[in-house]
Amino acid sequence: MEGHKLTRESSLPFMLAGRAIVTFQNRETGNRFTFKIKGFKDNLHFVSVLTGNNNEGDYQYLGIIQDKSVFRLTKKSRITQEAQSYKVFQYVFSHLVRGANLPEQVEIWHEGHCGRCGRLLTVPESIADGIGPECKKKI
Ligand SMILES: [Zn+2]
Repeated sequence: MEGHKLTRESSLPFMLAGRAIVTFQNRETGNRFTFKIKGFKDNLHFVSVLTGNNNEGDYQYLGIIQDKSVFRLTKKSRITQEAQSYKVFQYVFSHLVRGANLPEQVEIWHEGHCGRCGRLLTVPESIADGIGPECKKKI
């Protein structure tokens, strides 16, 4: 797939930076999901999942992250706990929060845009983190 693979260490800070678009891919099964994670306040993030071909607009609300540590559905969620997108996000996110090892075949990718401000990243070091130099100072 197109983009840049995040290291395990940079994955969670990237995802919680405020304007992150992240793809979880299982290299063995080929399954992948793209999520948009928007910070609302410091302790509240909204998660939506890409459900169509238009990666600008086809996102469906999934749930919230509270206190940068708990992901859950809300009353407004139209996606259930049975949905694969929910299960995959919950699995990967909870592993990252606990610092637990994810299976080797699970990869976390970003598209080269800063997870905090959305600007295109050009410096290799910034691409590795998914965060631009100015934004990194503020995280
Ligand atoms: Zn930035």
